[in-house]
Amino acid sequence: MGSAALFEAARSIRDWSLSDHRPATALPNAVEAYASLVFNDKLQQERLPKPAYRALRATITRGEPLDLTTADAVATALKEWAVEHGATHYTHWFQPMTGITAEKHDSFLSPTSDGMAIAEFRGKELIKGEPDASSFPSGGMRSTFEARGYTAWDPTSPPWLHVTINSATLVIPTAFVSWTGEALDKKTPLLRSMEAVSKQAVRVLKLFGSTAERVFATCGPEQEYFLIDRMFYFARPDLINAGRTLFGARPPKGQEMEDQYFGSIPERVLACMADVELELFKVGVPVKTRHNEVAPSQYEIAPVFENANVAVDHQMMTMETLRRVAPKYGLECLLHEKPFAGVNGSGKHNNWSLSDEFGNNLLSPGDTPHDNMQFLVFCAAVIRAVDTWQGLLRASIASAGNDHRLGANEAPPAILSIFLGDMLTDIFEQIEKGAAKSTKQGGTLDIGVSVLPKLPRDAGDRNRTSPFAFTGNKFEFRAVSSGQNISFPNTALNAAMAESLDYVATELEGATAKGEELNKAVARLLTKIIKAHKRIVFNGNNYAPAWEKEAAKRKLLNLKNTVDALPQLVTKHVVTLLDTYKILNPREVHARYEVFLENYNKTVNVEANLMVLMANRYILPAALAYLKDIGQSVTAVRAAGGATVQGKKLLGAYAKLVDRFKAQTDTLEAVANHAGGASAEKHAKYMRDKVIPAMHKLRELGDQIEVLTPHEIWPLPTYREMLFVK
Ligand code: ADP
Ligand code: MG
Repeated sequence: MGSAALFEAARSIRDWSLSDHRPATALPNAVEAYASLVFNDKLQQERLPKPAYRALRATITRGEPLDLTTADAVATALKEWAVEHGATHYTHWFQPMTGITAEKHDSFLSPTSDGMAIAEFRGKELIKGEPDASSFPSGGMRSTFEARGYTAWDPTSPPWLHVTINSATLVIPTAFVSWTGEALDKKTPLLRSMEAVSKQAVRVLKLFGSTAERVFATCGPEQEYFLIDRMFYFARPDLINAGRTLFGARPPKGQEMEDQYFGSIPERVLACMADVELELFKVGVPVKTRHNEVAPSQYEIAPVFENANVAVDHQMMTMETLRRVAPKYGLECLLHEKPFAGVNGSGKHNNWSLSDEFGNNLLSPGDTPHDNMQFLVFCAAVIRAVDTWQGLLRASIASAGNDHRLGANEAPPAILSIFLGDMLTDIFEQIEKGAAKSTKQGGTLDIGVSVLPKLPRDAGDRNRTSPFAFTGNKFEFRAVSSGQNISFPNTALNAAMAESLDYVATELEGATAKGEELNKAVARLLTKIIKAHKRIVFNGNNYAPAWEKEAAKRKLLNLKNTVDALPQLVTKHVVTLLDTYKILNPREVHARYEVFLENYNKTVNVEANLMVLMANRYILPAALAYLKDIGQSVTAVRAAGGATVQGKKLLGAYAKLVDRFKAQTDTLEAVANHAGGASAEKHAKYMRDKVIPAMHKLRELGDQIEVLTPHEIWPLPTYREMLFVK
């Protein structure tokens, strides 16, 4: 981009730095602000009649159905609280299959016969909404004329107030279903999967003498994102419409100096982060960690973990808040998986575990051999789950955006494997051979009654390259993408784990019923699981080409792109799993498959068209202008009697490049002008095999032109500008 624009950007940043940012009052007290806009347990206790409070708690903690009397009481209390805070509207907030959230606002106001109005809100309106569903993707589950869809209040996720400068809206988290009760959203299957995994985990816990009646999947997602100056954002049609740059030569300095990760946070960025955090605190999102990431202008925000359904809502709120607050600081937040080619992309590390109703983390190695035995059983169940359901897990993170990241030398590869760390691997190796007697550190442990050793709490070293890593007391699913709603990966994890725990419980119940001692049955089962599933364990460097070969030998799936990965969803194996555990019926699974494919096709299509537009309307005019300049220079120099050998050489080379660029633009335009195949699946293959390669070629040529074209006439902000002007 020309100097004038760059100066302007620099000036706005300078002005920002020089202006007085001290707040008029003292800095906000985060503890006081925390959850001040949430109708949480404390408020529910204070403001609900006792019986209503008790009934609501029973719903939240034990999943008991909620009656209309309770709903009415909750609605009244909610309305009063919301109106006290200036709320005029309420909205059922839901997560359609688009991947973003949706909301439709209705006013509390109800006109009265005397020409005035009162604020009203009934239980009926709290528990059920009826947005027109026809404009949301359903994957063919119903035709457009069957527009009816229902949003149903999810009482396990507390309502909150969305406050702007001149409005306050009561937000009610909901699930979104069709009139036949089929899930049209991402939340419903997640809730169902949490039920499923809870049920099976409780069976296993019972064998170990636990009285727990419910188990919760827990989740703590670490969100990576970019912040760039908004001036640049607006000058890039690709960022605006595709969320990533479709052209752009690598800057001379990228991330090779490794001076960014955990580096000090630029002032303007820190101000933005602090604002985001305060906004999130107010609505009860427990964000905790902030830091610089590996790439320039890349950052991370992570919360304290919560029950997965609440964590998912909070994650969506985090993404929305980042997007909403950044412009206040002249910044734009990019949540795309790969906004900049050649620089690290963004992921979302999905930390996941299971916890019983008393708050015991089931994936935490305990202090006693007895706890260890239970821990090892759950851990083995995870290993079995990831191995058995690799395909489903891989499909759950597949998207056009994540394809740029998975397998690139920075992100986990498309092959799923588990990092256990030396200590756990060693223990499982011993178990495979019979029984574990010692830890690797050398100390022999008293095996006591359990035939299993006492485990040290420290999980050992870390491995950044693994797509699925044990990190001490939880597993971290790292292949999840930065832009995606984390509902589905967590649904997939819970589903896989439900089946695995079902298997474990059935085996152990069977053995103990026959009179076998639990310890012995466990030892036998662990050995069996490890023998069958150890191929999924890999502690080495996942980025090394050797791993791909090794994984092929182990017959692990290596699904390199979305088009390869998505069909895993509709294999008989997966369809049966999701149906058996009542997470998604076959129609719902196929609907998702269709929606995901459509999403892929639309994404690639938009990108291809954008590239053609940028080529014709931005890059070519600049290149032709420069070409004319070179030609005129050569003529002038020749007329003046100077040497033109190099000038002519440049003219020839540049002209040829521009020529090829134009030809490739036309090729891409022709290739992209494709009506779609007979099916979304065929169309997706066409996108992958024909359109994407044509895009790659065009980009290469465009980037070659960029580095030869004068700064002054280059019409797009460059990587150097976008990534380093902070
Ligand atoms: P690490 O350094 O291993 O990434 P952190 O303690 O910073 O670990 O945690 C990273 C994320 O993992 C945080 O969001 C945290 O809340 C989450 N986390 C910790 N324990 C659990 C758990 N039991 N279940 C789910 N997420 C968890
Ligand atoms: Mg981490």
